Amino acid sequence: MHTNNFDIIVVGGGIAGSLAAVSAARNRASVLLIEEEGYLGGSMTASGTGPMMTFHAGETQVIRGLCDELIQRLVAKGLSVGHIPDSTGYTYTVTPFDSEGMKRELDLMVQQAGVTVLFHTSVASVSVENGLLASVTCLSCGTLFTVSARYFIDATGDADLIAMAGVPFEQGRATDGRDQPMTTNFKLVDVDLQVIRELMASKVELFPLLSKKPGLEKTASRLSFSGFEDIMRQGCNTGELSFDRDIVLCFETNASNEVIVNMTRINGKNPVDPFSLSEAEIEGRRQVWELYAFMKKNLPGFSQARMISTGPRIGIRSSRRLKGLYRMSIEDMFAQRIFEDAISANGYPLDIHSPDGAATDSRFFPYGAFYTIPLRCLLNDTIPNIIAAGRNISSEFEAHSSLRLSPSCGAIGHAAGTAVALALQSGKDVRYLDIVALHEKLLQEGAFLG
Ligand SMILES: Cc1cc2nc3c(=O)[nH]c(=O)nc-3n(C[C@H](O)[C@H](O)[C@H](O)COP(=O)(O)OP(=O)(O)OC[C@H]3O[C@@H](n4cnc5c(N)ncnc54)[C@H](O)[C@@H]3O)c2cc1C
Repeated sequence: MHTNNFDIIVVGGGIAGSLAAVSAARNRASVLLIEEEGYLGGSMTASGTGPMMTFHAGETQVIRGLCDELIQRLVAKGLSVGHIPDSTGYTYTVTPFDSEGMKRELDLMVQQAGVTVLFHTSVASVSVENGLLASVTCLSCGTLFTVSARYFIDATGDADLIAMAGVPFEQGRATDGRDQPMTTNFKLVDVDLQVIRELMASKVELFPLLSKKPGLEKTASRLSFSGFEDIMRQGCNTGELSFDRDIVLCFETNASNEVIVNMTRINGKNPVDPFSLSEAEIEGRRQVWELYAFMKKNLPGFSQARMISTGPRIGIRSSRRLKGLYRMSIEDMFAQRIFEDAISANGYPLDIHSPDGAATDSRFFPYGAFYTIPLRCLLNDTIPNIIAAGRNISSEFEAHSSLRLSPSCGAIGHAAGTAVALALQSGKDVRYLDIVALHEKLLQEGAFLG
């Protein structure tokens, strides 16, 4: 017999929601985790995104705690090679993983922590009483049912719960509300990566970022590469490629010669409009098939490549963001701010895939620089028992492009779960939580806070 009443309900089982649920449950809260898909991992398992990038800022590992525990568990089972140099030359390290292994390990982590999980369940409506969220009504298996809790963590990526409950949010860039493009990633096997490795050594000029740090491919046990601009330009000019993309961007997974292709660009669609999202799925698959044929024909090492999966769900880089008690800015990031209420750190650059066309606006921090994220970016005054975690926290559009990466979302999720569990234990509203106690606890849990 299951209860319908929990201390904490986490909506969304991506990396942020999964780790929020684990940390809250390890801190003795009763936790329900609600996930629309039939497995955890969110973008990483449902949209084929990867490798995780990056756990580092220079030589310092700035993402630790639960998120790193997850990786070490995968490494111990041969399901990840751990943190290795990023041979695209874009960031410090990448962390390839086996996405089926990721699903299984997250299952184990939530089970071992005692989290109750509801798969194939979507939150359909919310009930607010006396300024607090009292319960959510879920839809699953043709049934509507209600579950309640004292705190709710919105880890839906798209701030679904925040929007449904009437908590203020924003979306897209300030000038016109447009989001970064969506992308349908796909996986190829039977790619001859040795050919690419040799080209990286003999014709490094084909790989613009790597050419500034030559030789990285020699130290990376799994290959990431970004290059072949001429081939892409030609494809666009001849019409063989019907969408704007400037560069080939591929990442070897934990399995040798299996690559994630992160190249389609679905612009001008709204990821939180159901009709627009559905059009984007169809356009994404159209681009995948066009690109697949193009790569087999034109890219060295790809002639025998075979596609084994798309998505299965289109990847959403950006959508709704909470308007929280603090809005993370790029100024904070470049100033490498260490906030008094810091809950996580991150050293990944700004990575804004253009909402208009082919290009990516990348802005790099000095080598080794990192910033922290304050707890206030997760909190709001409108319905204070809803906490944001993951890519939907409060930030400027541009700042979001850095903190949205999966290790960062994992670290935010870990901290969100711990913060809410401590709030429940202390009987204090999470907005007035004892930050010294939170820091002590997060440090005990292995987190890095700057
Ligand atoms: C194309 C693309 C490529 C990327 N590449 C990389 C990369 O190489 N490396 C990297 O580190 N990061 C990458 N990212 C970013 C990264 O994958 C995500 O930003 C990050 O994983 C987000 O984690 P999250 O937990 O905040 O949200 P999500 O992963 O989006 O998880 C949200 C979860 O909530 C569930 N959900 C949503 N609404 C509801 C609801 N109403 N009810 C129940 N469940 C719901 C969803 O099913 C999902 O499982 C990429 C992103 C994209 C789109």
